[in-house]
Amino acid sequence: MKKLWIGIGFLVCLCAVCLWRQTEKLKKQEFAKKNSQKTSITMPDMVIVLDPGHGGSEKGAVCKYENVLVQEKDINLKIAKYMKKELESYKNVKVYLTRNHDETVKLEERVDKAADNQADVFISLHNNAKGEALSYQNGCTVIVPTGNYRSKTSKKGQLLGAYFLDSLSQLGIENQGLLMRTSQTNAKYPNGELCDYYNVIKNCVYHDITGIIVEHTFIDCKSDYDNFLSSEEKIKQIAKKDAQAVLRCYGEGENLKMKTAEEKVTLITNGKNQQNQYQTWKFR
Ligand SMILES: [Zn+2]
Repeated sequence: MKKLWIGIGFLVCLCAVCLWRQTEKLKKQEFAKKNSQKTSITMPDMVIVLDPGHGGSEKGAVCKYENVLVQEKDINLKIAKYMKKELESYKNVKVYLTRNHDETVKLEERVDKAADNQADVFISLHNNAKGEALSYQNGCTVIVPTGNYRSKTSKKGQLLGAYFLDSLSQLGIENQGLLMRTSQTNAKYPNGELCDYYNVIKNCVYHDITGIIVEHTFIDCKSDYDNFLSSEEKIKQIAKKDAQAVLRCYGEGENLKMKTAEEKVTLITNGKNQQNQYQTWKFR
């Protein structure tokens, strides 16, 4: 009888060891798979200019949560620095920032810096706050060119914007779609079509640079702040998703590309959300 119990005990131990080894093997395989996904992306030679919105005397959106003063300009800079680090781990990718510190930089100078560095892409990094132009007060939006002028470059911006929405929504940030806005002063491009409203978008179109503005969250939305901005780690996660959006849009690799994505597209014509026009566009 005693021998039988020893035998059973031995078998149980053997099974436990086998199970443990199998689990470890699976974990290693999973780790290797994740790693190979990261390293298997091939990026083309490209120059990316990241533009941390506002800075210095221009604070952007400001909010106070339990005595913590949250300033958009600081969060935008953090996202840009983390994103630069992520993207520059790919040796073909060169990244410049329009500001590295808390300093005031004029809007015109930002795109000029991109043009001076012969940028392929200009990405302005922001966080939103409630306003009259939009009907929603949370989530992420990417402002892209209308395509009224230099439509080929504008289309690249619209596609890049769709990748940003796809990546950021993986964090749980509500996807509010792409946004376009036309001039309210009737400013026209040389082809007679209405200019884009936002200065950096318009200047990128003039310089033939793919340019977008990413509004990651609403700083004055408590749940957006709590879920996505309230710690260094959360801000880092946003920057990682931003970098992934760029890698997925421009890189080559397995399972990288967006499946067919439908995005809501909002066109603001006069700054009042009652007059906004809505469409649905398909990407890929
Ligand atoms: Zn801003």
